[in-house]
Parts: sequence; C-alpha cells; structure tokens
Amino acid sequence: MKAIQEKFVYANNRLNREINYIIQAFVNFYGEEYKDYIVTTLKDLKIIWYDDVEKQEGKNIKEQIVSSLPEKQVDEYLSKMNKICFSQSAYIDEIDVLVLPLSYDITHIIHELNHKMSSNILSLEPLEIISGLCISKEKSGGVVSLNSDLNEAINQKMTLEILDELRNLGLDICYTPSWQENVFPLINLFYDSFRDDLKDIYITGNLNLFINYVGMNNYDEFSQLIYMKSFKLRRKITKGESPLVLEDDIKKIEDVVVSMKDFYNKSNSQNGKKQL
Ligand SMILES: [Zn+2]
Repeated sequence: MKAIQEKFVYANNRLNREINYIIQAFVNFYGEEYKDYIVTTLKDLKIIWYDDVEKQEGKNIKEQIVSSLPEKQVDEYLSKMNKICFSQSAYIDEIDVLVLPLSYDITHIIHELNHKMSSNILSLEPLEIISGLCISKEKSGGVVSLNSDLNEAINQKMTLEILDELRNLGLDICYTPSWQENVFPLINLFYDSFRDDLKDIYITGNLNLFINYVGMNNYDEFSQLIYMKSFKLRRKITKGESPLVLEDDIKKIEDVVVSMKDFYNKSNSQNGKKQL
C-alpha cells in the first residue's frame, strides 16, 4: 500500500512531464488558431488529487485528497463546496479547480481538462455557467443544468480524439471506457455533422450562434430527445440492465439532425459560409 504522498509525487511529476504533450494534443485537435487560449488555459492548473484506488467509505475526505495548493485554500474549498465534489474526477468551474485521480487515469484527466477548456462563467452570483452545450443556472439554492448528458457525451467523444492525438505524439496511452459512451449511438450523426462547430463552441462559448444556425426549434427538439433517451439509458445502467439503444430512438434523433443540417446549409448559403 503506497502512502498517498508517494502517489501524489508520482502523479504530479508525471503531469509536469507530460503537460507540454497534452497542450500540443489539444492544439492539434482544436486547431492552431486557438493555441494561445489553450496554452493559457492549461498552464498553472489548480489540482486536487483524490485517491481513486483505495477509496474508503466514511474516511475523512482530507485523508483521501492531496494537493500542492496551500492547505488554507483547500480548506476553504472544502467548506465552500459539497465534499462529494472532491471524491470523483471533476472540473469545478466556479473555483477553477480540477479534481483528478491519483492513479493518473489519462482518460479522466483529458476529459476534465476539456471541461475546463469549455468553461465560461457568465455570473458567479447567482451562478451561471455555459460549458460546451451545457447551461447551468443557480435557482433557489440549487444548480439546474440543461443538456448535461448531451454535453458529457460530446466531451467524451472529443476526449477520445485528443487521446489519439497524444498517441500520435508518441505517448503510451492506457485508455479506460466510461459511462458516456453508452450515449454515443444517439449522438454519432450530430457529432460527425457538426464536429467543427462543436469545437468552436467549446472554445468560444458561442452556443447561441450555433443554435441560430441549426434552428432554435430543431435544437430544442434534438436536445429534448437526447435528454429523455439518455435518462432512460442511465436508469437501465443503474438497474444493471443492458444499455442498448433502440434503433427506433436513433432514427428519431437522426431525423432531427437531418433537419438541423438542412437549416444550417440554408443559413450558411445566406451568409456565404461553408456548407456541410
Ligand atoms: Zn464530464
């Protein structure tokens, strides 16, 4: 059993060694034009590492996390946020903190860094965040998130591509599957059709522009369908049932994506922009 401090030294050193490769992989994925933003976003990361190997229920949270941040600052975060936030991989937008696994699970690390990449805080009080396609707003004490499953699946799709970029750079990548992949059949056509626009949204936060291009009604219908179908899927997974997606559900969603593409092409032909 390795002491938590020893695991921290390993993970921290490894990230310091690999961060320039990671930055390059993000640049290769998003495009050279976003290099400055990517470099700025991925420098001086605030990280709290959590022990994902020897998680123990009931154990004090402070015994399960470790960070190079000042202890006072970590204590402040612990008192401000729900402690559960610090026992799973996460990016906590409002304090700009990454919570990463001490096992150095690179799939989780890239996924959370991509959340950081797409995070746009519109207001802190009340909290209002736009992160990729997910919009979160504070309402009567709680935070309500819209299109969270859709955004998770898209983030995971991007994560897989960024991991491929890391492999191309010569890094040995040990990949772990995640729950979001069950949603992939529902979003494959959407992702493949609008991949470049989705990348732009992640960097710029300009989701409204995209919604105008694909048609507000189309987008609403699409996101409603994804919400309902992925909810059904997650319930199946919780119950231990097979997370198979019905062909019928895929067809219904893809019909809407086709309408979005038509609308997009019409909007773009008016603006002289490229068509799909
Ligand atoms: Zn996520």
